[in-house]
Amino acid sequence: QRGDQIAVYRPEAAHHPPARLTLLADLLTALRDAGPDDGIVLFYQPQVEVATGDVVGVEALLRWHHPSRGMIRPEELIKAAEATPAMHMLTDRVLHKVVAQVAAWREAGLPMRAAVNVSVRDLHDDDIAERIGGLLSRYAVPSDLLQLEITESALMVDPHRVVTTINRLDRMGVAISLDDFGTGYSSLQHLRRLPLSEVKIDRSFVLGMTADSGDAAIVRSVIELAEALHLRVVAEGVEDERTWRALAAVGCHAAQGWFHGRPMPAADLATWLSRYRPVSPGALPASTR
Ligand code: C2E
Ligand code: MG
Ligand code: MG
Ligand code: MG
Repeated sequence: QRGDQIAVYRPEAAHHPPARLTLLADLLTALRDAGPDDGIVLFYQPQVEVATGDVVGVEALLRWHHPSRGMIRPEELIKAAEATPAMHMLTDRVLHKVVAQVAAWREAGLPMRAAVNVSVRDLHDDDIAERIGGLLSRYAVPSDLLQLEITESALMVDPHRVVTTINRLDRMGVAISLDDFGTGYSSLQHLRRLPLSEVKIDRSFVLGMTADSGDAAIVRSVIELAEALHLRVVAEGVEDERTWRALAAVGCHAAQGWFHGRPMPAADLATWLSRYRPVSPGALPASTR
């Protein structure tokens, strides 16, 4: 509301602000026309095994170089694309790029497992498992080098359909990770019913765990619960050494965060790995092994 203008509330405008529609149109143009120069880039963030300090994989995180606005964060992009046909195209483009990258790393003697985030809508596509299977065979990438991260909200819309898709992926050997665990629509039933291999503790709890006893308690309980269900636990948002040590002390399996490495372009990963020295989570100062 500005000056003497009166803002009229229109619900459809609230759901589709013009900025979002513009972004969607630009994205469709990029997806349709630009081919390899679509500006869609994956950054990769390492995941580190707590017990050994070994790098066990990477998470692929979407970035989009918008022709005039510069780098667009994934959340804004997904919000614009979700529930439109662009989402399907975007997910396919992401999967394609990640599988091709995994194949390239493999050829270079670096067998790196990559996790891809998929959204609600993706899991409602009946053929997503086939599309993934097709990509893996086209690039001769073993299915255990690909992992999918799903959020719980994805499970709420049409649980039956989503469960079918997840079971199919599991049979193909693609591991499924439950992302942002503890936020949103947590249901303990998901942990029991789905063929999950991993839960990722949401970074809001991890960020607070060294300062807030409530957050620390949540992290501990998630680990305990996951262990009882034979799931791996990955903590996301590990920003400092104190948190890294605290996670080791409570038996977390793997960690991901700025403390170890920021998301980086694929081309930087080999250099990052060559410089990487595990920081012992124990009481002793960091050792080089
Ligand atoms: P997410 O899957 O939970 O990814 C973790 C987010 O935490 C990433 O944000 C990552 O950059 C950020 N992060 C990593 N380490 C730290 C840390 O130590 N501290 C803090 N404060 N943040 C850290 P990003 O890259 O902005 O991605 C945001 C979300 O967008 C992702 O959350 C995921 O839900 C979604 N997303 C990313 N890429 C894709 C994609 O290809 N497809 C879909 N559908 N969603 C994606
Ligand atoms: Mg994720
Ligand atoms: Mg997450
Ligand atoms: Mg998140």
